[in-house]
Amino acid sequence: MRCDDTMLRTHTCGELRKEHAGKKVTLCGWVSTHRIQGKLSFIMLRDRYGKTQIFVNPELTKKLGELRRESVIQVKGEVKKRPSNQVKKELETGEIEVSANEINIMSRAAPLPLELDESVASTEEVRLKYRYLDLRRPKMTKNMELRHKAVQFIRDYLDKKGFLEITTPILTKSTPEGARDYLVPSRVHKGKFYALPQSPQQYKQILMIAGVDKYFQIPPCFRDEDARADRCPGEFYQLDLEMSFVEQDDILNITEDLFIKMVQNVFPEKRITQIPFPRLSHEETMKKYKTDKPDLRKNKKDKNELAFCWIVDFPLFTKQTEEDFFHGAGKEWAPSHHMFTAPKEEHIHLLDKEPGEVKSYQHDLVLNGFEVGGGSIRIHDPEVQKKVFSLIGFTDEQKKEFSHFLEAFKYGVPPHGGIAPGIDRLLMVIMGEDSIREVIAFPKDKTARDPVMDAPSKVTQEQLDDLGLKLK
Ligand code: ASP
Repeated sequence: MRCDDTMLRTHTCGELRKEHAGKKVTLCGWVSTHRIQGKLSFIMLRDRYGKTQIFVNPELTKKLGELRRESVIQVKGEVKKRPSNQVKKELETGEIEVSANEINIMSRAAPLPLELDESVASTEEVRLKYRYLDLRRPKMTKNMELRHKAVQFIRDYLDKKGFLEITTPILTKSTPEGARDYLVPSRVHKGKFYALPQSPQQYKQILMIAGVDKYFQIPPCFRDEDARADRCPGEFYQLDLEMSFVEQDDILNITEDLFIKMVQNVFPEKRITQIPFPRLSHEETMKKYKTDKPDLRKNKKDKNELAFCWIVDFPLFTKQTEEDFFHGAGKEWAPSHHMFTAPKEEHIHLLDKEPGEVKSYQHDLVLNGFEVGGGSIRIHDPEVQKKVFSLIGFTDEQKKEFSHFLEAFKYGVPPHGGIAPGIDRLLMVIMGEDSIREVIAFPKDKTARDPVMDAPSKVTQEQLDDLGLKLK
């Protein structure tokens, strides 16, 4: 890959080929290795785009001494073609080397706390703390690049389909998605709190009421829940989308088409087991696989196999459990997806008598045994919405917290629905990573700390006073 010339360099470290032989070039990058051989030496110079070997003549070698790995240098020199028996096949730039005339040290590196060589394993604790070093490793660079490409593909695809990307507030009110909220105290309104959104669920529904018709964004969602291999505590990113005047199949079809094309374009080495994705009812899936996240790969050892499937016809409610904490919900029923999911029309009459029998328009997208997205057709009748609030045990006080939502429902609501695949988790599974942290630049650690910034951290008494807060 090439990047445009800048004042400090003419080429990147991944760019030079034998056609460039004879050219005067300037490269910048990190010293991956500096091998001294007698009087002369070789530097392997690295940047995001690749590595280039630098030949350092005896005079320069003497002047430089041994350069510490990961120091940043600028090299001015001439491209030299390597004899064909000395071509380094493992390097994209292996046909050439740059013979240095001048080397400027831009920043010297201290001894490293972390081994950058892919073959040496460092502990995750160290990798997360020194993430800026960890991210220099070609594998992590590649993961960041793939993530960018996937997200870019999604944006282009949805743009072409007429979706509007609209950002929604981060300082907002709780939208219960089944986890604890992160709260932010208000200075101006003492004693009141914002909640960081667990998802933009209410906003995207309100955008449908606003006539937006097709919405998406790739927002962060904040949930105070424990870490798992496929879940980072704290925050994650979703592809959040919503459409008006649709039935469930419309949402399934567009999501499916998007991901098939994304895989074909961004991950061409991957193979999707079955197209169209199988659509299985919740009941039959539970009977057959004893889980609602079945792994339908034909060969579980094949790293490039992707077995997507849809699970539909979920029950509207599940029994409330301690660990499945639904903020504000009562003791008996919890929403199986969330409280805005529509019951099937033919089951609405069962809401009063047998809520456990009511089936809904929830849909989950499952990939290789992981739930990678969930969504639903939404309730658009305020009376049904009120009934669901009652059934999950909301008190009058709690219902009032949603009065803005029910108010909006008075003024003309299109039938609507959507989905929100988790970007981090989806990419983790597609890329065959064991941990979600491999596809996130700055993940929280298992105890929800940010190891790079050392957050959360203490604040001053003055800050607390400003907010009217007193710590217990
Ligand atoms: N808001 C839901 C979630 O975060 C997704 C959706 O129903 O669109 O799981």
